Amino acid sequence: MSTPWHVLGAGSLGTLWATRLARAGLAVRLIVRDAERLRSYNAAGGLTLVEHGEANTYAVPAQTTDDPEPIRRLLVACKAYDTENAVAGLASRLTADAELILLQNGLGSQDAVANRVPQARCISASSTEGAFRDGDWRVVFAGHGYTWLGDVAHAVAPIWLDDLDAAKIPHAWSTDILTRLWRKLALNCAINPLTVLHDCRNGGLQAHHCEVAILCAELIELLQRCGQPAAADNLQQEVERVILATAANYSSMYQDVASRRRTEISYLLGHACKVATRHQLHLPHLNQLQVRLVAHLHSLGLPSD
Ligand code: NAP
Repeated sequence: MSTPWHVLGAGSLGTLWATRLARAGLAVRLIVRDAERLRSYNAAGGLTLVEHGEANTYAVPAQTTDDPEPIRRLLVACKAYDTENAVAGLASRLTADAELILLQNGLGSQDAVANRVPQARCISASSTEGAFRDGDWRVVFAGHGYTWLGDVAHAVAPIWLDDLDAAKIPHAWSTDILTRLWRKLALNCAINPLTVLHDCRNGGLQAHHCEVAILCAELIELLQRCGQPAAADNLQQEVERVILATAANYSSMYQDVASRRRTEISYLLGHACKVATRHQLHLPHLNQLQVRLVAHLHSLGLPSD
């Protein structure tokens, strides 16, 4: 029998992956927090994916974290701030040749997981797919995109990429995944916090061109200093392109704040500021942006870590 895909985190991305893998006939197990969530899931009868307006439910078998089944392939689909603890809770179930696929945005959580489970192979992902929950156990596939996967420690691609082909999950193996993750983080730092502070859609940042340009200059300095010059290439032009191309959209951080959800700030702007400090780089505008964002989150009574 083929190796089952254990999916940790039945949220937006976890559901998007679990349903497509299951629909391709692959073995999938959903891992939920506790017995109460398991009861709720079983009562719902499965995971529902809404695609092109059509809803389909997939009865993916589910289990709690303390299930005894060994885990050889684990797709980690929690928020960055939950990941380390969630994986630690499964450490005793991981086989000696276990592989983890980490879907988290930003940087920092991947290293935390790798340190927690040093015996496992950790593969990072960077995705442009978009999904959101419109109910418990129900997810809308909002934006088709692409997922790059890579392993900073071993360049060889895993054999299970065939499963992603079968599941029609558009993907590519990347030998420079760290550069991709840094590039995405830099784009996020230049756009998302400002949309929160200026209370605007992405396109609203066209009125703050200078502020964006100064941030890009500091981010380029940071990327070059931390050994990621390719992630710095034409950063400002791409930031401007993204602002135009997504002018009508609200950034993910804006949506988190508007819905009073915890943001992933520590793994995005917070991570950039932390790395700058480690390299003794003085980036006043990036630091000031973090101070302003943290104060704003506090003023709303939201967590700032
Ligand atoms: P999400 O919808 O909030 O889902 C996270 C899931 O993790 C929730 O279902 C949560 O359970 C579960 N979880 C947390 N701790 C757990 C634990 N200890 N045991 C079991 N389950 C646990 O988040 P998301 O939007 O899918 O985002 C996941 C990651 O993907 C983030 O880093 C995000 O930035 C990144 N990403 C998302 C998208 C997107 O379009 N959504 C796109 C690209 C990247 P409960 O349901 O019980 O709370």
